[in-house]
Amino acid sequence: MKIGVLALQGAVREHIRHIELSGHEGIAVKRVEQLNEIEGLILPGGESTTLRRLMNLYGFKEALQQSSLPMFGTCAGLIVLAQDIVGETGYLNKLNITVERNSFGRQVDSFETELEIKGIANDIEGVFIRAPHIANVGENVEILSTVNDKIVAVKQNQYLGVSFHPELTDDYRVTDYFINKIIKETH
Ligand code: GLN
Repeated sequence: MKIGVLALQGAVREHIRHIELSGHEGIAVKRVEQLNEIEGLILPGGESTTLRRLMNLYGFKEALQQSSLPMFGTCAGLIVLAQDIVGETGYLNKLNITVERNSFGRQVDSFETELEIKGIANDIEGVFIRAPHIANVGENVEILSTVNDKIVAVKQNQYLGVSFHPELTDDYRVTDYFINKIIKETH
């Protein structure tokens, strides 16, 4: 399958590598027309205010709101998928959740920890960089992982969102789960 990585900002190459390790073709998506060529889209981390601005500029907001393409958001990508953002307006409204940005506190701005993720494994290395957490989940949202009672991974139908950066490690099992489980299930 061809899987896209939204390539407006953030860690694109690393995600493409994980797609390839999962046995599929990864392409950098820069124009909305490319959405027709892919079976799923990864929204990378970076800075979600900038990401949203660029998505508005290049027409991705409307295109993705109207699309039922499976999507996987990491960190800033998770923020973009949320229905609500604390103190701001929600954006794509694909995950029925409220996210809070930069919410692990200044002392632990960035950290790594081993995560248990339901349906994937109990030894996933989570790299958190000024990460958001999921403060609330609505109906039909499945909680897949928590860190100190903070929700850091969720799934709702064909949408997956995590607070951390799986692409920054060599462990591609989260991407593999998105492609070989979530996308295949929706076919
Ligand atoms: N702190 C960033 C934001 O709120 C997200 C950080 C990241 O993607 N690593 O947009």
